[in-house]
Amino acid sequence: MSGRRRAFVPDERRVPTESDLDRRRLAEALDAVGDAVVVVDTVGEAVLRNNAADRFNDARHADALAGDALRELLDRARSGEECSRELQLFGPPAEVFWMTARPLMADGRRIGAVGLVRDVTEARRIETVRRDFVANVSHELKTPVGALAVLAETLANIDDPAVARTFAERIADEATRVGAIVDDLLDLGSIESQVAHRSTISVAGLVHAALDRVLAAASASGHEIVVADCEEMVTCDRRQIVSALANLLDNAIKYSPSGTKISISARSADGWITFEVSDQGVGIPSRDLDRIFERFYRVDRARSRTTGGTGLGLAIVRNVAHSHHGDVTVDSSEGDGSTFQLRIPIAGNVSPLFAEGR
Ligand code: ADP
Repeated sequence: MSGRRRAFVPDERRVPTESDLDRRRLAEALDAVGDAVVVVDTVGEAVLRNNAADRFNDARHADALAGDALRELLDRARSGEECSRELQLFGPPAEVFWMTARPLMADGRRIGAVGLVRDVTEARRIETVRRDFVANVSHELKTPVGALAVLAETLANIDDPAVARTFAERIADEATRVGAIVDDLLDLGSIESQVAHRSTISVAGLVHAALDRVLAAASASGHEIVVADCEEMVTCDRRQIVSALANLLDNAIKYSPSGTKISISARSADGWITFEVSDQGVGIPSRDLDRIFERFYRVDRARSRTTGGTGLGLAIVRNVAHSHHGDVTVDSSEGDGSTFQLRIPIAGNVSPLFAEGR
């Protein structure tokens, strides 16, 4: 496979023939293909290689492994076999390549082989995320649905109305739990599908709409909520931001003892609105801080279950932040309360900072 980069080297001094142009067109067309393409002759000499294939030629380290694998496939293809394989490189960066090679024939004769390498790293990552997600959802729904079946079965054999009522109440609780998971999944789905309905609204209006959603829970649990909003207007998807703030407030209530203070504030600076929700609750151990925004991740599963948590609240907050080209951060330590900050651009568009992959 080594050797000339391209068989065709234009000679500037002469007028190109039609066959020169054909080859140039072919070389240009192969460069336009995102995959790496290599054509070899009957002895394995590369007669055509597009730009994307350059990285595998005389390469070192991980690319050399891919180059070797492709060479092997091309050798097999030269002897008439059509073959393909996937190559996983553990990196960093971790990469996955799908490669294939097939013989090239002319008038019933083998005249070489063509090999193709496709970078499928992102596709495999998405497949894994999707698979894990389906496994997680099934697992999360299995517990309450299993409980519902057992409770209903037991209820059918109970004669005492008082005991039956207890079982009926537990059935209602489990059904509410399933409903909460499904609602959160629908929320996540609609945010991820990027259907944002942006309008320009007051920051104070957003904060108060979120407060309205949690006031009943806060007064039932004996929490005081301190509010400091700002005068600014912001362009955003109202439903999404209110849902994110309500999730942060709801967590502050769930994970802090009765009688403690919770605060929500909003401030504007340099084209950004920062919402902040603080509590004086149990806090989050530093080892969990990186993971709490993952779907279904809980620091304390038992506590989350008793508080009716779905494990999806912070995943929703993170998705809302990203769909607004913003971010969400947390500052917390175990036993010391937590402060979450949700930051979005006032104008609702991508800031140059984010465009540079900040
Ligand atoms: P859940 O429905 O379990 O509350 P979330 O996605 O909202 O799910 O939160 C993930 C986990 O992060 C929670 O289970 C909890 O352990 C932790 N957490 C979130 N917010 C707070 C908070 N304000 N204080 C302490 N822990 C929190």
